[in-house]
Amino acid sequence: MLVLLLVAVLVPTACVLWFMAQAMRNERLVVRQKLIEAYRVHLSAACDGVGTYWQDKLRALSDVEPQSTPAEGFAGLVRAGVADSVVLYDQAGRIAYPSDQHPRGPRRQVHPKPWLRAWELEHAMGDTSGAAAAYGEIADRYAGMAPAAEALRARARCLTRLGRTDEAVELLAELLANQSYRNARDADGRLIVLDAQMMMLDLMGDAAHPMYDQTLARLADRLSDYSDAAIPIGQRRFLMSRLRRIAPKGPRFPTLEAHDLAERYLEITPSPPLPGPARTLLDGVWQLPSANRHVVALLTESRIADELGARIANRSGLTGAHVVVLPPGSEADVREAFLAVPAGGQLPDWQLALYLDGPDPFAAAASRQITVYLWTAIVVVGIIALLALLVARYVGRQMRLTRLKNDLIATVSHELKTPLSAMRILVDTLVEGRYRDSGQVREYLSLIARENARLSRLIDNFLTFSRMERDKRAFEMSDLAPGDIVEAAADAVRERFASPGCRLSVELSGDLPTITGDRDALVTMLVNLLDNAWKYTGQTKDVHLRARAVDGHVRFEVSDNGLGLSRRAIKRVFDRFYQVDRSLSRTAGGCGLGLSIVRFIVTAHGGSIDVQSQPGEGSTFAVTLPAAGRVERP
Ligand code: ADP
Repeated sequence: MLVLLLVAVLVPTACVLWFMAQAMRNERLVVRQKLIEAYRVHLSAACDGVGTYWQDKLRALSDVEPQSTPAEGFAGLVRAGVADSVVLYDQAGRIAYPSDQHPRGPRRQVHPKPWLRAWELEHAMGDTSGAAAAYGEIADRYAGMAPAAEALRARARCLTRLGRTDEAVELLAELLANQSYRNARDADGRLIVLDAQMMMLDLMGDAAHPMYDQTLARLADRLSDYSDAAIPIGQRRFLMSRLRRIAPKGPRFPTLEAHDLAERYLEITPSPPLPGPARTLLDGVWQLPSANRHVVALLTESRIADELGARIANRSGLTGAHVVVLPPGSEADVREAFLAVPAGGQLPDWQLALYLDGPDPFAAAASRQITVYLWTAIVVVGIIALLALLVARYVGRQMRLTRLKNDLIATVSHELKTPLSAMRILVDTLVEGRYRDSGQVREYLSLIARENARLSRLIDNFLTFSRMERDKRAFEMSDLAPGDIVEAAADAVRERFASPGCRLSVELSGDLPTITGDRDALVTMLVNLLDNAWKYTGQTKDVHLRARAVDGHVRFEVSDNGLGLSRRAIKRVFDRFYQVDRSLSRTAGGCGLGLSIVRFIVTAHGGSIDVQSQPGEGSTFAVTLPAAGRVERP
């Protein structure tokens, strides 16, 4: 039965849970699939952006002012952020910028004769002050011409070495102030004024000097001026990087890295490449030649990725996710992406990867759905369990009733048979006239009366029992004197105790309060107890029936000197059809209902019953009922 119920609960429960698990999995897959489809549309739109990206770049390259010099074109494109670096070629395919060709302008300087002497004094003879004076003379003699500029710079150098720094600074300032020295070059082709400015900054040492900032700004301005074709590329790059070192927060030179990149590129790619974006031999650098191959833009992969990413972000209008452009070799990032697609033909091996912002929306949607499913599962399982419980109770009740019916039929037929057959024998004897005298007739008649009384009691018990079973508490309550009930019960059994060796003593205390109850039921209760006392004692029966007032209650006690009860039996004597010893009950007459009826009546009257007994030492059954006015209905 229990197994059946368990199966009835467990099988549907397992089915419901399995169904829910499947539904949850499907839900997850569906949400994911929907998201993937939606995002795929976005990504393919983003791929179109890759093509326009290169077109825009090409347009920017062709926008280089036709009249501008290659140097200006270089700086313009780099500063405009079109590329990380640019290489420009002339019509013949030769490098126009940045090339190492000698800058245009006055030819290399030939030193006048006095220069040699001054140089010897400075370097060979160690006569620094003599050299300084000699350089001063040269400067005076060639004033306004290139040798003078170089001589002034050399004199400043000697003065510095002599510790006359202030004089040296003044001298350099004088040199810079003279416009005729603007494009004067030294023997290596470098512009002397630029070196002089750098030297001045070194001598002044720090920004505290009144001329420092101005000198720094002028030098930076001239270095940044790519229309000034006089500055050799090498000198420009050298001074830019020096300025950046001594004044990290000072002027910015975005073209410096562009020079470095172009130099590295030209080392391995001397001639102009074919049109179309392509990887260069430099790691992580791409080239984009203009249609006429006169301009080649160099772009690092990080720039391409950033610019494309920004462009896609602007166009896609994506919410809850963002797209990242991944160059080749970013497999780890691709794996982490929610969705990745190839970026398209113009960027082979590149990927457009889509990442979800914040918590995974499909996980959130799925978890919402899971909660719904979970609650549904809990409710369904709960309903199944409840139904199973109700069915179990109903079936249990039916089984109990069936058992009870069977027991009752067996008991009733047995119990009725004994007194009826006894009476029939006696009546037959009397009818047939098989008696000695009128005394024997009386004896037989009294026996018949006793069996009759026994039958009545039995039937009373059965009626009470059936009332109990139907749970009909059809008691007629009224105020009663406990003594009256005791007397009525004693009268009912007196005849039984009339035989020799039997004694029934009745003890009533005088102060008994009235009780409220059904008279017949209470008499039945005491008669049952007295009957048991008679039945379950030996030859000598000493039974006491007492009633006394205890704390606003009336306590009825029936004690005997009989067989007594074990501890285990005491616990069960009030159960229906329970009999300690069936064979004994058979001879004594009984069906195991008496005490259950007693307990039913006591409980219906708001009282309690307890047993004191030990095997072989008799028993005392005590019933406590509340006095009238204190009735506590159960
Ligand atoms: P029965 O009709 O068999 O007497 P009861 O419900 O009245 O049924 O009693 C249940 C069992 O309790 C009896 O079979 C008997 O073994 C035991 N019992 C009841 N009263 C006493 C008693 N006074 N002394 C010993 N045993 C008793």
